Amino acid sequence: MDKIKIAIQKSGRLSEKSLDLLTECGIRVSNGNRKLKTEARNFPMEIFFLRDDDIPQYVEQGVADIGILGENEVWEKDKDVQIVEQLGFGNCRLSLAIPKDEQYTGLDYFNHKRIATSYPKILGRFFQKKGIDVKIEELGGSVEIATGIGLADGIFDIVSTGSTLLMNGLKEAETIVRSEAVLISNKHLTSTLSALLEQLLFRIKAYKNGQGKKYVLLNVRNEVIPDIVQLLPGMRSPSILPLADKGWSSVHSVISDDDFWEVIDELKRHGAEGILVIPIEKMIL
Ligand code: ATP
Ligand code: ZN
Repeated sequence: MDKIKIAIQKSGRLSEKSLDLLTECGIRVSNGNRKLKTEARNFPMEIFFLRDDDIPQYVEQGVADIGILGENEVWEKDKDVQIVEQLGFGNCRLSLAIPKDEQYTGLDYFNHKRIATSYPKILGRFFQKKGIDVKIEELGGSVEIATGIGLADGIFDIVSTGSTLLMNGLKEAETIVRSEAVLISNKHLTSTLSALLEQLLFRIKAYKNGQGKKYVLLNVRNEVIPDIVQLLPGMRSPSILPLADKGWSSVHSVISDDDFWEVIDELKRHGAEGILVIPIEKMIL
């Protein structure tokens, strides 16, 4: 039987989370000693552990059918692959940074400046569109030291908290683009492999839908049910079950973490009792 070949990062920021995602999708992978490749135990899948930089090329060529990596690498490598799904982890931004004592005057500041980066394509395309002329110095890593050693006037790099910039006497001048981990696919999958990808996607979406949401159960007097339904629209509408105690019902629904405390306060104001809040593992819409 055909197996779908997935490429994930061997070691780095996305490795654990990529494996965790597979686990959440019910796919069991044993990778005790971090070999080059392994097989899932209960899903027709082979897992390749690679450098993230190489994943777009492998997926384009069909050496791997699908892959998980930062969208930033997909843009930079510019290979002919399909972005199938945003995965909600590995969030970061790509920003321009300059020495902290410089006064930043807007994008024109960079006209005729030298900028060091590991993302020359993304940066080149950006400034070309803006009609600003910059000299790009391509570096494989440690981009943040480039201004300190006089190689460049500014840098273009991944920022998550900004502390690395600060430590190197830099400040963020401009965010160019935001990135997160994505699932990519080869553009010419066989129908069997497409079906396996669909199956995987279905599971990924179920997992993602449950993220940031809670299941709530509570008891209310029947008179206030219409108000409670307003507060807890849920997926379709909340379930309402009569309690043995006459005049009371149990209401079940789903709420998002963002509205959580506000909704709970409102529920209490409406006399809700015995509120239970339960994490959601998966949610099939
Ligand atoms: P590899 O050895 O696989 O080439 P790498 O050094 O290129 O690894 P990592 O530093 O592990 O890569 O980062 C992988 C991806 O994680 C990045 O391309 C980016 O999408 C994402 N990421 C999220 N936050 C950060 C961050 N603070 N710094 C760097 N990358 C981040
Ligand atoms: Zn890399």
